[in-house]
Amino acid sequence: MSQIKQRLAHIKSQIRHAEYAAGRDKGSVKLLAVSKTKPAADIATAYQAGQRIFAESYLQEALQKQQALSAFDICWHFIGPIQSNKTKAIATHFSWVHSVDRLKIAKRLSEQRPEHLPALNICLQINISDEQSKSGITLQVLPMLIKEVTQLPKLCLRGVMAIPEPNTDFEQQCKPYRELYQTVKALNQVEIDTFSFGMSGDLKAAIMEGSTIVRIGSALFGERSYK
Ligand SMILES: *Cc1c(COP(=O)(O)O)cnc(C)c1O
Repeated sequence: MSQIKQRLAHIKSQIRHAEYAAGRDKGSVKLLAVSKTKPAADIATAYQAGQRIFAESYLQEALQKQQALSAFDICWHFIGPIQSNKTKAIATHFSWVHSVDRLKIAKRLSEQRPEHLPALNICLQINISDEQSKSGITLQVLPMLIKEVTQLPKLCLRGVMAIPEPNTDFEQQCKPYRELYQTVKALNQVEIDTFSFGMSGDLKAAIMEGSTIVRIGSALFGERSYK
């Protein structure tokens, strides 16, 4: 068995265990395979092992891999920072966008979503660690942005995404997710069914605190080496 297949099986079993430990329904947490910087061949290997949803962060790289893999029935998610001049291609070539963090971008994605495609699924990216370097909106402006985004015809607001500051302590990993989950639940937005929480280093904590999609890169495809 290839290493990717082995790792995929291992991560799935970790997810099942975490769901159980958290008292969550079996299958309530989806695995999103983050393939940024990795070759199309790695995606094909994971696909052959049953994985169908993949995420990319860099548009040009993503488009090349999508082309190479066009025969595969893959659901593509975009999770990287979004510049205005990239919205058209993102609205055309992805089913989900997790990293929407301003109204201007949301409007462009809605306007540029091709007519024949269903509404683009989006998550609003929340900055929960107040790190200067990370994008995302504050919790204070979330209710307003939700209101505005739900008016846009070609977007389907699904939930929130967060990337907390890395921490190796389990309780410290849980804390920001718990706060965000509770704040979002308290808004009583019926359309919100997605909490895009958790990466390779904190998947257990994220599932404990309500994650419905974990975004796993290095634990599945191996460490990334950036150019
Ligand atoms: C790269 C990336 C991930 C995956 O991170 P790993 O630690 O490799 O699992 C998840 N989410 C986002 C937004 C990313 O950019």
